[in-house]
Amino acid sequence: SAKEKGRNQFHFFDPGLDEDRRKRRDQLAEISRALENDEFMLFFQPQIQISDCQLVGFEALIRWNHPARGILAPGQFLPAVENSHLEVPLGQWVLKEAIHQMNAWKEAGETLAVSINVSAQQLMDRRFADYLESYLSSHPDLNPALITLEVLESTALEDTKRASNVLARCRALGIQVALDDFGTGFSSLTYLRTLPVDTIKIDQSFILNMLEDVNDRAIVESVIFLAQRFQRPALAEGVETMAHAKALRDMGCHFAQGYGIARPMPATQVLAWASQWQKKRLAGANTDLLEPLIA
Ligand code: C2E
Ligand code: MG
Ligand code: MG
Ligand code: MG
Repeated sequence: SAKEKGRNQFHFFDPGLDEDRRKRRDQLAEISRALENDEFMLFFQPQIQISDCQLVGFEALIRWNHPARGILAPGQFLPAVENSHLEVPLGQWVLKEAIHQMNAWKEAGETLAVSINVSAQQLMDRRFADYLESYLSSHPDLNPALITLEVLESTALEDTKRASNVLARCRALGIQVALDDFGTGFSSLTYLRTLPVDTIKIDQSFILNMLEDVNDRAIVESVIFLAQRFQRPALAEGVETMAHAKALRDMGCHFAQGYGIARPMPATQVLAWASQWQKKRLAGANTDLLEPLIA
């Protein structure tokens, strides 16, 4: 980082930087404790097919149920975890927990697909697919095709070739791959060309203002066109209103996820939400489907 470069050059005496490092070290110690104390949890946000509003799955999103500060969003602790010794253990906890949850839903009679975010460092580990395979083998009734790995496009993958091999092995297990936050990184097109991906997720920053901002709209339309040319479905994140959903449908976008459909929710609410959604979907079947569903 610029800060590290600065320190190496002439800011080594700056007490503010030591302070930053101390803070991060303390934060990492706290996160490590939290992992041992089982303070992390997964929230789940629905993903739907826009054409018929069918529920297609949920994205698992990590939260920290902090004993003093309440439920913390990933933006409040993942930056400290990134590139630290905790990035892989925390990522593995997410994988295990998501698969465990899918299995619990399966045993409750609901087959739900789940998308799981994986970090760059996780994909640099050649054993990643082995871990996944072993988690899956302890849940033999779970169909691997229900799992999608969301790969962050904006995190620079040190070694695209290696990540590509790891992902190819995951796909050989039957797992799907989505390119997350497409368009926000430096190498979107290179990743699209190199990585084996099934779905392209259009970053919410392009969706949020696309109805007012002609440039954002042009980008969204172009990404959907690009996805179509690659014969991959596009999923729009940050779908906050029915107007967004309708515009995306008209542009040919397949899937949507956003507050307009539902906010991320604790696992305990998922089954009730899914059956409620299904009821509303069937009730609205004769009218414009998006109308009764998205407020
Ligand atoms: P992401 O993977 O792009 O996830 C989508 C983020 O957008 C989530 O934020 C979600 O709550 C938020 N979102 C969904 N719909 C809307 C909407 O309509 N409007 C707005 N303004 N926001 C919406 P969240 O949960 O805070 O997660 C932020 C990021 O943290 C994720 O972005 C992902 O990159 C990372 N993350 C979350 N969970 C994990 C995890 O288990 N592992 C890893 N490696 N990263 C994770
Ligand atoms: Mg994601
Ligand atoms: Mg995203
Ligand atoms: Mg994002």
